Amino acid sequence: MKQTMKTILYWIISFTWGLPMTLVGCFAALIMIITGHKPQRFYYNIYFEFGESWGGVDFGPFTIVCKDKSLSTIQHEHGHGLQNLWWGPIMLIWGAWSAIRYWREEIVRRTGGDTSKLPPYEAYWLESQATKLGQRYFK
Ligand SMILES: [Zn+2]
Repeated sequence: MKQTMKTILYWIISFTWGLPMTLVGCFAALIMIITGHKPQRFYYNIYFEFGESWGGVDFGPFTIVCKDKSLSTIQHEHGHGLQNLWWGPIMLIWGAWSAIRYWREEIVRRTGGDTSKLPPYEAYWLESQATKLGQRYFK
């Protein structure tokens, strides 16, 4: 399938079955545009750069990543965009759980706690799958 066709299909599914997460993404994108961040493209996704050294977050076809992102970070986030096509509305629940895990680790780190007692980030299937999908399809 041609790249243009894939992109069109990706956006159609994102705005139908994947609509709940995509709407969150539209809101995030709007805030990014209003605050002067430039939309950029990585494969099918639109991404914005914000802040430094924190990684990234994906809301369906919209991604926000830090300015010093690595290729693997943006691949991973785009992998979440693919997961949204598969999971649709349920992606909001998986995504919320992922955010809780992220902030739990951040809070433990910022309060000087021992993060080594927490399960590794990739132990959550959603995260390891996003990495695999991103590295496979977005080289
Ligand atoms: Zn992730």
